Amino acid sequence: MTDAIVCDLDDYCDAHAGWALPLLDQLYQRSGGRFKATLFAIPGRLCGDALIDAAGRPYLEIAAHGWGHALRECEHWTQEQTAEVLARCLAAGRQHEEDNPYYTAIFKAPYWVTSPGLYAGLLASNWAVADHPQNLTRIPRALRRYVLSPSHRIGAAHHVLPVIQAHGHFTNETGNGLRECLGSFVGLAESGRPFKFVSEVLV
Ligand SMILES: [Zn+2]
Repeated sequence: MTDAIVCDLDDYCDAHAGWALPLLDQLYQRSGGRFKATLFAIPGRLCGDALIDAAGRPYLEIAAHGWGHALRECEHWTQEQTAEVLARCLAAGRQHEEDNPYYTAIFKAPYWVTSPGLYAGLLASNWAVADHPQNLTRIPRALRRYVLSPSHRIGAAHHVLPVIQAHGHFTNETGNGLRECLGSFVGLAESGRPFKFVSEVLV
């Protein structure tokens, strides 16, 4: 079986939509229509247009990455606060299309800083978590998750899942920025391998 590539890109927001969506379109075209990516968006910094434009592309799915992406934002979130933020994300999507929340129910904490309340809120709201291996012992057993490998450079095989990882950022100077590592993303897009959304590889 050919391992699928999972491309998850962090920090999608108004500041990046203008240049990033055309670039993602190019990856999609160069892949012969195989390319897919899960965008971890900053809901509090995503106005209607940037949300609608991404949601209108079937090869993208939108997940939530904090609310405003403040430093250690989720460190002290309670279950109730978490549930309120998740509901706000879904409501933001439904503002534009009543029956469509736009957001896939997957959450990634900014800077990978989580809390027991965050995990409890995700569980209670039936959301999944995208997480870092440093948090593995903290994730409740019942919570569905996509956890990167300890080694997750772009193109590295996952150590457990039948997946090639392509984790990156819209911001540059992160070591895995979409533009600074464009060659790696293009190489994967043109590899002929299938792509999967994060929602398709949750365990
Ligand atoms: Zn981030």
